[in-house]
Amino acid sequence: MSFLLIPGKVKPEHWIRAIHAIAPDIQVEVWPEVKDPEAVEFAAVWRYPQGELQKYPNLRCISSIGAGVEQILSDPYRPPVPVVRVVDELLSRDMTQYVVWAVLDHVRKMAVYRRQQQQHQWKPYGAPTECQVGILGLGELGKTAGQALQELGFLVSGWSRHQKEIPGIASYYGNDQLAPFLKQIAVLVCMLPLTPATSGILNANLFKQLPPGAYLINVARGGHLIETDLLAAIDSGQLSGACLDVFNTEPLPENSPLWSHPKITITPHIASVTNPTSAAKQLVANYRRALAGEPLLNLVNLDLGY
Ligand code: NAP
Repeated sequence: MSFLLIPGKVKPEHWIRAIHAIAPDIQVEVWPEVKDPEAVEFAAVWRYPQGELQKYPNLRCISSIGAGVEQILSDPYRPPVPVVRVVDELLSRDMTQYVVWAVLDHVRKMAVYRRQQQQHQWKPYGAPTECQVGILGLGELGKTAGQALQELGFLVSGWSRHQKEIPGIASYYGNDQLAPFLKQIAVLVCMLPLTPATSGILNANLFKQLPPGAYLINVARGGHLIETDLLAAIDSGQLSGACLDVFNTEPLPENSPLWSHPKITITPHIASVTNPTSAAKQLVANYRRALAGEPLLNLVNLDLGY
């Protein structure tokens, strides 16, 4: 029996070291050089060519090595086995740091001060007395980031499928409550999973329900955002700008108009990257559970897509 690894941004040797530090007995096969496909019973994957997992007839479980699973669920040839994902406190911590930075960078006008510094200009602006931040998706990542913002004095509300009871965060839920949620938001942060229900949700119709001058932060997936609608909303003044970590096409193509837009901040999908040392524990736990036929951790609902 073996553990197939199809890693993403993190080098395979980091994963192998982290796995072997806690489970030296596990035979890890790094894609694409898999010696014995029939021995593979567990696959920990990031991006891979569609159909690839059909080559492993004894697969019992597919694990995303990140929080998102859309890359697995969109494979039409995915073997009919359970899918799990990573839920990790370092992933939540790093995402929270990014979101807090992006909110503060906008609200405290840091881009303006960086420009003023280049011109040796001393021109102070007051900080807003209050600011309503809205989080689309109050899951593992959205909840932690929302709580941190609330502790920093922001007014925070969140939108999810189910009602939430999180101290200090106003809960809106379901499609009927999206409009009342949006109409009070100054900074909107998207932390939804990419599913058929959320694909393209950041579009012209949503932007026009926000107060004029609202700011968008997208740290979820590029597929949530209609990029042409964003550019039109910023250029019309409906939105004051955006901070984007994720894109429809990654790396962002050289000729994308997003690169040079003065009101858009771009980072290369780095908001939160899975830490192998921290995440290896649950990959190993799920490997052992899959082999023993025990309930899996962080199981994905295949019907809902997250
Ligand atoms: P999660 O725990 O599954 O939470 C998802 C949240 O979205 C839940 O609150 C869920 O509502 C809500 N939701 C899902 N579908 C909805 C719908 N149709 N309408 C309203 N709310 C909906 O996910 P997570 O671990 O927080 O991760 C979120 C996403 O972040 C991942 O899927 C991934 O794409 C992205 N991500 C990005 C990076 C990066 O570096 N940029 C890093 C890690 C993750 P309920 O709670 O009511 O079910």
